[in-house]
Amino acid sequence: MPYQLNEKLRGLTPYDPIEGEYRIRLDANESFLPLPPNVRAQLQERIACLPFERYPDPLCGELCRAFAGYYDIDPAYVTAGNGSDELISILTGSFLMKGQTVATLEPDFSMYRFYASAAEMKTVSIPKEENLQISVDKVIDACRAQRPDMLIFSNPCNPTGQGLAKEEVRRLITALEDVLVVVDEAYMDFWDQSLISEVIRYDNAVLLRTCSKAVGGAGMRLGFAVANQQITNALRAIKSPYNVNSMSQAAGACLLSHKQELQQAKETLIAARQELQAGLERLAGAYSQLCVYPSCTNFVLVALPHTKELFDYLKSNGIVVRYMGRYLRITAGNPEENSTLLQQIENFLAHDATV
Ligand SMILES: *Cc1c(COP(=O)(O)O)cnc(C)c1O
Repeated sequence: MPYQLNEKLRGLTPYDPIEGEYRIRLDANESFLPLPPNVRAQLQERIACLPFERYPDPLCGELCRAFAGYYDIDPAYVTAGNGSDELISILTGSFLMKGQTVATLEPDFSMYRFYASAAEMKTVSIPKEENLQISVDKVIDACRAQRPDMLIFSNPCNPTGQGLAKEEVRRLITALEDVLVVVDEAYMDFWDQSLISEVIRYDNAVLLRTCSKAVGGAGMRLGFAVANQQITNALRAIKSPYNVNSMSQAAGACLLSHKQELQQAKETLIAARQELQAGLERLAGAYSQLCVYPSCTNFVLVALPHTKELFDYLKSNGIVVRYMGRYLRITAGNPEENSTLLQQIENFLAHDATV
């Protein structure tokens, strides 16, 4: 018999970011701000004199210290990854035992289930409320009934844009003492309910952060896990030793040490999202078929009857957003991009209302 791909692999296709050149890309929740010139200059100097013939630092010492410095925590409890995607893949895979169960909330970031399934873990999904919020009581009940080994969710959530107050997250972690609770705070720079300064106090919690969103370093592929000493030791032991290359380590250390520039960039991104949200809400006031969800992130989720038609219309006008069935997820762009987008959506809605 010739070699055949196994069942698990047969139906898979590579992750397909939308192909082609588009004028306005609002589909991946990246920052629209390029690196500040002083940071870029410093970074170039650093990279020019790296010892490329040597393996990188397996524990990413300088990088973790810069991350810890930015968030005012102790670097002893920080593990760096090749994007937080790698850390999600490790946590939902090799960190668990074969066949253990990972619980996710729905809707949430699709990679949790993807990586858990790829590692042949069992998955259970716990639905959110009609308004896409999380009912902590229901999640606790569902976990008590289904007994997962891990619960992983994003806070604030991609794609809903909504967040769970820190008191509620604490309640979840405390109630589920035999479940490892992974809180993915990829968008927490845009909100103020982080558990980053207290997560090491819990026996059963891991917090994830990334440089891909507010920090504006998606191309560097840098993510971080923060957890108590025992979990941190295990994560560092099970990850691949040279998971973060020396260029990314140097670039991340450099970027994260520019606290003032990062704070300023964050304010700009938040203002852009507020502007986008206000514009969408104005449109929802005029066109009742449009529903706009609240957001504490750098994107806004909307629902309307003809999402696919609007998605295609925007694409044909050089704008890409994220199509998600009943919803479109729209990343806040710069002021010009936002106003072009809002104009195009209005054109579509005005026409859609008449047919
Ligand atoms: C963007 C995003 C990440 C970041 O992934 P990286 O691999 O660090 O780029 C993680 N979790 C969620 C929910 C995200 O939206």
